[in-house]
Amino acid sequence: MKTRYDQRNTIFSRMRLQPSTPAYNEYYGRHPNVKEADDALRGMDIMKNLRAEKHEKDKIHALMDAGDQKVRGLHEKLASTKLGLSQKPLAKQDALNQLREEGAVAYGVVRLNEAHYYTAYGGVGENLGRKDYGKSPDKHYTHAVVFAVPMDMEGILAAPKAPSLIATKNAYLKMAEAGYRLASSLQQRGYPTVFASEDFYPAPLVPLAYDAGIGEIGMANHIVHPVYGNRIRLGAVFTTHPFEEDAPDDYGVEDFCRRCALCLMNCPSQAIKHKKRIVNGRPFFKFDEHACFKMFKQFGTDCSICLQSCPFTHGINAWVRRRMRKNRKNMDLVVKEHLRQRGRKPKEHKELFLKREWFDGNHR
Ligand code: SF4
Ligand code: SF4
Repeated sequence: MKTRYDQRNTIFSRMRLQPSTPAYNEYYGRHPNVKEADDALRGMDIMKNLRAEKHEKDKIHALMDAGDQKVRGLHEKLASTKLGLSQKPLAKQDALNQLREEGAVAYGVVRLNEAHYYTAYGGVGENLGRKDYGKSPDKHYTHAVVFAVPMDMEGILAAPKAPSLIATKNAYLKMAEAGYRLASSLQQRGYPTVFASEDFYPAPLVPLAYDAGIGEIGMANHIVHPVYGNRIRLGAVFTTHPFEEDAPDDYGVEDFCRRCALCLMNCPSQAIKHKKRIVNGRPFFKFDEHACFKMFKQFGTDCSICLQSCPFTHGINAWVRRRMRKNRKNMDLVVKEHLRQRGRKPKEHKELFLKREWFDGNHR
């Protein structure tokens, strides 16, 4: 029996519920177990705790306002794009090339089934003017083209400080732009299509990215790409265009996580657990969402220390990656070398990042 995803169960949806409203009462009537912990976090203002230089704060606010406006504009533009009268198929490679030209670095296609979709939206699209809390997503899209956009390395190295939030917001914007371009092209070719953005996604993206073979699910429950590691944001285009589908792949990440656990050790809130939990056949790890979200609020950024901690994020070179496949001794050597070069918590030094021996940072 497949677990059905419900966006209302995500912490980002629950944090939007206002006490004493019908939605709040209805939700916590059904889920009393999370009410107390949610209520404790709800009052915390995330931006209030952001410790940053004035110019960084200005940049973040400008990026958030402009980003919301831009993404909203892209969704509106797509909604008003005329659907082509006859269907003109697009070669898969041409579709992927469009994403690549917009900065995406990894792609894959999933054939969608009912269980990929959320059963109901959780209202996270309010910034886009969507009022969809409790509504069921349109499930007539048959395929998802899933992709990854890299985040700026220096920003991630600065986690949990402001530059990491800037890197995240920039990547979200890029991912919406790439998604819009492909969605608009498919729509004009006669295939109804929508694209995911930071606040709009009719299905959770990590399971989709796993199914599309973009990477494996690491201990922090993010997709770890073999070349870019955790330094990615995921995007997706939901379409009726029947592209050839891809499949999950074994990049050796799952084996490596068992030898590494650096994200778990560095996590300041102990949210990451080493225990596996299989959800719909996909290998996730147990996770304390309240502890993690509290850290978001305390830092005023989205923390990102786990992204920064991952040896894959630092670009393990291809030669080393090949030699550590199924080889525990070599995996241990890579962890040891990572620690020797960077220490347990990677430093914010460009020179370190550029030391090219084991971690070439070239992301080839
Ligand atoms: S974002 Fe921070 S608090 Fe959350 S899991 Fe990662 S390291 Fe832990
Ligand atoms: S830091 Fe280590 S354990 Fe965590 S996701 Fe990366 S490889 Fe896996």
